[in-house]
Formats: sequence, structure tokens, C-alpha cells
Amino acid sequence: MEQKTDLKSMTLPELSEAVAAMGEKSFRAGQLFQWMHQKLAEDYEEMTNLPKSFRKKLEEQGPLTRLTLVERLVSRLDGTEKYLFALPDGNVIESVLMRYRHGNSVCISTQAGCRMGCRFCASTLGGLVRNLLPSEMLEQVYQIQRITKERVSHLVAMGTGEPLDNYDNVLRFLSLLTDEKGLHISQRNITVSTCGLVEKIRSLAKEKLQITLALSLHASSQEKRKKLMPVAYKYELEDVLDACRYYFRETGRRVTFEYSLVAGVNDTSEDARHLAELIGDMNCHVNLIPVNPIAERDFRPSREDGIAAFKNKLEKNRINVTIRREMGRDIQGACGQLRRSYLSKEGVPEAGQSQEG
Ligand code: SAH
Repeated sequence: MEQKTDLKSMTLPELSEAVAAMGEKSFRAGQLFQWMHQKLAEDYEEMTNLPKSFRKKLEEQGPLTRLTLVERLVSRLDGTEKYLFALPDGNVIESVLMRYRHGNSVCISTQAGCRMGCRFCASTLGGLVRNLLPSEMLEQVYQIQRITKERVSHLVAMGTGEPLDNYDNVLRFLSLLTDEKGLHISQRNITVSTCGLVEKIRSLAKEKLQITLALSLHASSQEKRKKLMPVAYKYELEDVLDACRYYFRETGRRVTFEYSLVAGVNDTSEDARHLAELIGDMNCHVNLIPVNPIAERDFRPSREDGIAAFKNKLEKNRINVTIRREMGRDIQGACGQLRRSYLSKEGVPEAGQSQEG
């Protein structure tokens, strides 16, 4: 093993091979896996049941992937915590901890930056920098659990990045996160949110995981969706919804539709009626989110009475709907805002224009 290897991104069988290649007994792989993914060791030095010589070899050939805490903001309103972490190459990403009655939920980033270009989203303004490795996604959860000393029981992939644009790494991350020899988070407590990459939704369906798929819908017609989400130029709304129906058929999991309400853009009673027609046949749930204004765009959230009316209209059509409770308003809770303000403060260069996918 010449090259430095990211051992924390390996499944147990892969780790066993790597350990064998290093000339160690195969049961060492199980011990190493447990130290990394269950005991959340930060250093090989902590792994005291591994021989010293092996630990030295590990440090030389496969140093542990770590994230460095840059900033931690704790909301005084609801206990939500926002984290800025530095990746080994110096890029910064953000993660959020939300405390609910049902447990602690971490919202992770799957990419540094994003190339999807949604008009209302701060995460995409600087384009895509790079995909995160499985170990870098895991470490967001592990670091938060180490720092708070509280168990993380739920996970949402709703931070910066498009999870299905980093498909292989995200799948590997999910498999490690749910591994019974790791943190063993239940698949049912995991939500992956996508702007709607049709082929990838279909591939994910075939995996037959018990995770929740959240689709960022945000509009009730193809034309309106194009105005908010450039990805709609690539995929027809009907094809996106068909992929969601397929996801439900394959997994039996009810799909969540996220709908960020933007005043005067997608929040009229006609929009609500269209939406009800569009998804009325589906076993689904709608999550209404008052859009979080970002400095670079002049989108405003709908008024409270407008949101309630929109919700009523959907309910009258027997559609399941909730209004997302806003958390961490005092700590730049919205997508990508903390990272962005950090980047501009530090004068860190960002990626160039988002590439065409
Ligand atoms: N790329 C994925 C996940 C990241 S964003 C996706 O598109 O689903 C998580 C959710 O927050 C998405 O529904 C996204 O559209 C929404 N979102 C992004 N910026 C927002 C803002 N300023 N206000 C409200 N919702 C926003």
C-alpha cells in the first residue's frame, strides 16, 4: 500500500483487505472499524488494543480523516447548533444539529459548494468546489457527537450540496452510518433531499433502502420550476414525479415534497390548486418552508396568513402537509449562509462558475 488511503471510507470487507495487505491479522480490521465508527476515536494512539507497530503503520499509510472545528454557534432560541468545519484540504463546510423530542438530528453537507444553481439558495452561489468523501460526511456526525456527548439518532442530507450529484460517496456514507458495527443509525431516521436528478432517484429506489426521499419541488408547473431551479431545464416535472412514484413502489417509503414559499412567485391559491392536482394521486407528504431570504437575491417569504391558506387548500384536497418549523434563526440557520459569510470574511476564493451537468 504505497498511497495514503482513506481507511475511514472503507466498508469492513474492504478494510479487511487493506489490513491484510499491511501484513496484519484479519481480526484487526474489526477492531479498527469499531474504533473509527463506534468508539469514534480521533487518533490511532487511542486504539490501545492494536499493536504499537500496527498503529505506527496506520498513521504512515492511512492517516485518519479528521475535520477541524472552525466555529460553533448555539442558538439561544431553540438549542440548534451550527458548525463550520475545515476539511483536510482547508475547504470549509457547515453542518447543523437540531434537537427534537424524538432525538438529535444532524444536517450534513455532501459537497463543498453546489452546481445546481437554485435561485433562492446560498449554497450554490460560488459553484461546486468538490465532492465530499464518505469519511468527510461521517466526520460531521462524529464530531458533533464527540463535542456534544449526545447521541445522534437522525440524519438529513440537506446541507450544502446535491447528494445525488455525489451518488457513490453518499451511498457508501449511508452504508457506514447505518452499519451495526458503527453508529448504527436506523435507515428510517435518514432523509436524503434532492433537487430531482431523475436517473439517480431511480438508482436509489433500486437500492431498496428504508430511507426517506425528499424532493425539492418548489413549484407546481414546469414553467415556474424553471424560474427557480435550473435543473428543471434538464428534467421534465412529470419525469421527476414519475421517478418519485417509482421510489415509493420500490421501497414502500412515502416521499416528502419540499416546497419553499416565495411571496408572489409560487404561493398563490392557484399554485396550491395546481400542486394538489399534480401530486394528489401520490402517497406523499408536503413540507412547506417559508423561503429564507438571502442577501444576493430579492426573494421574500410569503406572509403567515398566505402560508396558512396554502396549507388549508392542500389539506382540503386530502394532502398531508406540515409547515417546517424554523430553527436557529439567530445563527444563520438557512442553507449555506454561514459558510458563505465565512468565505467572504476570509476572502477565500471560491470555485468558478458552476459547471453544466
Ligand atoms: N440539493 C438538495 C439538498 C440541499 S437543500 C436539494 O435540492 O434538495 C435542502 C432544502 O432547502 C431544499 O429543498 C432546498 O431547495 C431548500 N432551500 C435552499 N435554500 C433555501 C432558502 N433560502 N429558503 C428555503 N429553502 C431553501
